Amino acid sequence: MINNLMLLLTSGNSEYYTRYTPSGFYGIDWTYVFVIIGFVICLIAKFNCERTFDKYKKVRSSSGLTGAEAARRILNNAGIYDVSITRVSGKMTDYYSPKDKRLALSDSTYDNTSVAAIGVAAHECGHAIQHDKGYVPVVLRSMIAPAVTICSKLSIPLIMLGFILSLYSTLVPLGIILFSVTVIFSIVTLPVEFNASHRALKILDSNGILGHDEVKKARKVLSAAAMTYVAGTISSALQLLRLILLSQRRRR
Ligand SMILES: [Zn+2]
Repeated sequence: MINNLMLLLTSGNSEYYTRYTPSGFYGIDWTYVFVIIGFVICLIAKFNCERTFDKYKKVRSSSGLTGAEAARRILNNAGIYDVSITRVSGKMTDYYSPKDKRLALSDSTYDNTSVAAIGVAAHECGHAIQHDKGYVPVVLRSMIAPAVTICSKLSIPLIMLGFILSLYSTLVPLGIILFSVTVIFSIVTLPVEFNASHRALKILDSNGILGHDEVKKARKVLSAAAMTYVAGTISSALQLLRLILLSQRRRR
């Protein structure tokens, strides 16, 4: 029982304790490489995102608008007047809440006049516009969101329980299916994020909130931020692949 749990958490190859196998070296399960790759990818994306934001946070926009002022202007131009703009603590903790129609801008965005802050604020406006226009991936994402909350909470405990009780054809596959739902959610999130940035940059350019060169800088910030979502999705997919490999190994 303990060995089965260790299999999921650490090794994945209980035979390694006694002998070398073609699938691994002493003390190392080769499928753990997926976890490490996912972790490193996420770390690089996060580091690059922060570095890019910090770089363009120092570049003041020629319009002199703050993130909050730019957001209000963008929303009004899109005919959206029922979305409130509030301030939240933290750095790059910005989000749009469709439930209470609220655009939450972080300390690093709200009253900052940089091209980075305006880019991020415009991106969140992009989400508000997506909801207003009924952008299909957003609708799809909202539909599966409640299920994802449950799946993300239950998947790993179910898989662990399946390994502990040796239920490799029932509980483990069920846990993996639930985990797959969270991976699908990550994949559906990607077009939502890319589209929000695309809308943002188009609006900033056409409304003259940022100059042409400033838009290029804002694009770098938003692209770096989008890469964190791509990295997260790759990491989840690799984790899913590892779980499938581990379950198949135990069924043999
Ligand atoms: Zn976003």
